[in-house]
Amino acid sequence: MVTPAPAELLANRLGRRPDVIARAPGRVNLIGEHTDYEGGLALPIAIDRETRVALARREDGRARAVSCQESGEVAFNPATPRRRGDWSDYVQGVVAALAERGIPVGGFDLAIASDVPPGAGLSSSAALQLAVATALDAAFGGGLDRVALARVAHAAERGFVGIACGILDPFASALGRSGHALRLDCASEATQYVSLPGARFRLLVAHSGVRRSLAENAYAERVAECRAARRAAATALGRPVARLRALAPGDLPELEAALEPGLLRRLRHVVTENARVDAMCGALRSGDLEAAGVVLREGQRSLRDDFEVSTAELDALCELGDAAAGVFGSRLTGAGFGGCTIHLVAPERAAAVAEVLAEGFALRFARRPPVWSVAAAEGAGVLPLPPTL
Ligand code: ADP
Ligand code: MG
Repeated sequence: MVTPAPAELLANRLGRRPDVIARAPGRVNLIGEHTDYEGGLALPIAIDRETRVALARREDGRARAVSCQESGEVAFNPATPRRRGDWSDYVQGVVAALAERGIPVGGFDLAIASDVPPGAGLSSSAALQLAVATALDAAFGGGLDRVALARVAHAAERGFVGIACGILDPFASALGRSGHALRLDCASEATQYVSLPGARFRLLVAHSGVRRSLAENAYAERVAECRAARRAAATALGRPVARLRALAPGDLPELEAALEPGLLRRLRHVVTENARVDAMCGALRSGDLEAAGVVLREGQRSLRDDFEVSTAELDALCELGDAAAGVFGSRLTGAGFGGCTIHLVAPERAAAVAEVLAEGFALRFARRPPVWSVAAAEGAGVLPLPPTL
């Protein structure tokens, strides 16, 4: 439950009644990490933690926004969005991206409420941007579909906030479907829903407590390393490699001899990770949770040893999970360097495993990590207005 209701927040902090209420979920990625910016495959689910916004149009062309997660209000001119280096950039970026698509945004008041923890790797930023894009599109008559809204959110984060991110997070938040994972081809933007064997598992998310936002430089470094690995691979194979997606596991033996070991490890992660996405789709479709668990554990090993984006906290959570009875597999989710782990667990063991994770982690790091059970939820959309306020 998102509390307070965004309409209440809008009334209490800005004295307005909403014209539109919209929502957008956070996400976890089941598998397919650090593949999106190399045109690869990913398999996210939108989760039942979401950001809700209430929006009231203004006649004077000004914009104000408040958030339950931030003190004070931000004000700006939506006709001239300007990057400021604070959370208003996520809102202003959406305004700018809509304007670029010929949808002029007039004045508005906006209240934001959310139960997606910010900076935890559950993509609170995409949830915020999709909720804002959905509300502004509805309020100012843009008529965009969900894919277009995802592109708006992506343009906002890349072009305005300035993070070199791929399309995984906005597509997951825009297109998620209850009971399903979303197979996303980041080269063609083709999507496919993969039905989850619902009643037979729980998905636990444990937060390592290390804020992901501290890792922006390391993320940009991985993006650059993949680019360098791609160039080295093209030279070694004597053919163009537009994206690492163009390589298959069968290319690896030839590249092992030719590439510098560091670059080879980065490349090997991306190439094997793409293959793991389809292995996971197959495991889910046939309801083989043991096989799905193997894919998660192999994915974690690859992120830890080849891509080197895990941390002691994330490794510890995965090891605790994998050693516990009833856990099929565990891995870090999101870009790494902090954030959360996911654990695929037999339903009857979920509560006990959550306790094992929290206790074991506390023994080592002297704090209890939050552990949530999440379920696959619907992507972004407009909500009905409350009858009275
Ligand atoms: P993640 O997307 O993994 O949660 P990011 O660093 O990408 O982490 O995005 C977190 C940032 O997004 C926050 O620091 C804040 O600037 C912004 N943000 C996300 N949710 C909200 C919210 N409900 N209210 C205000 N700002 C938010
Ligand atoms: Mg984010």
